[in-house]
Amino acid sequence: MLIMMIEDEAALREVIEYNLTREGYQVTAFDNANDALIAVEDCPPDLVLLDLMLPGLQGLQFLDIFRQKDQKTPVIIISARTSEDDIIRALERGADDYLPKPFSLKLLETKVKVALRRLSGETSNTGFFSSGGVSVELDSHKAICDNNELQLTQKEFDLLALFIRKPGKVFTRNQLLNIIWGYENDVNSRTVDVHMAMLRKKLSDKGRFIKTLPKIGYLWEARMADTAR
Ligand code: CA
Repeated sequence: MLIMMIEDEAALREVIEYNLTREGYQVTAFDNANDALIAVEDCPPDLVLLDLMLPGLQGLQFLDIFRQKDQKTPVIIISARTSEDDIIRALERGADDYLPKPFSLKLLETKVKVALRRLSGETSNTGFFSSGGVSVELDSHKAICDNNELQLTQKEFDLLALFIRKPGKVFTRNQLLNIIWGYENDVNSRTVDVHMAMLRKKLSDKGRFIKTLPKIGYLWEARMADTAR
């Protein structure tokens, strides 16, 4: 799960990033909303933590622009503004939750967990996803192909789960690096290719559902007939 954090206070940014990373989330942190807005295009987050008072583009302005494109991804406001008016305004403009500063990290982690659970609950209650006869069980980290459990590494599992949850969606190598490995640039884009080749091999004939778009990236494309089987 990729969390985008926009917070200009360095100390707070670091402590939140440290804690959420320790909880197993991928975190991309920004000290301003302008850069974050650009990054959203390349690497859509699963959840956004948003400060309101920022240098440049303000939190609520970011929220307006973000919500024009994306209604679904949860946005949690973290702000020193604590008046009822501020909270109501943010919620009405599309924030999902509001955490007044100062807050405990425990509470933040809980709110993140709950928001993400609600999100995955909309797709599936069980954390079970299936496409083209290949399925992944997120809770138990099991991947099943033609009734056989696949022996996948953590990264291979993460890649497969990402693809099966978003069939037909094109992921660039950079996006995959960012989401699965947490890297920021394409220095290691060979890493992606190597893992994709391994995953394909382990999927044997279902490996054909992983399509390569030369110079762009990868997508999972299982035809309807395959999915129905
Ligand atoms: Ca601030």
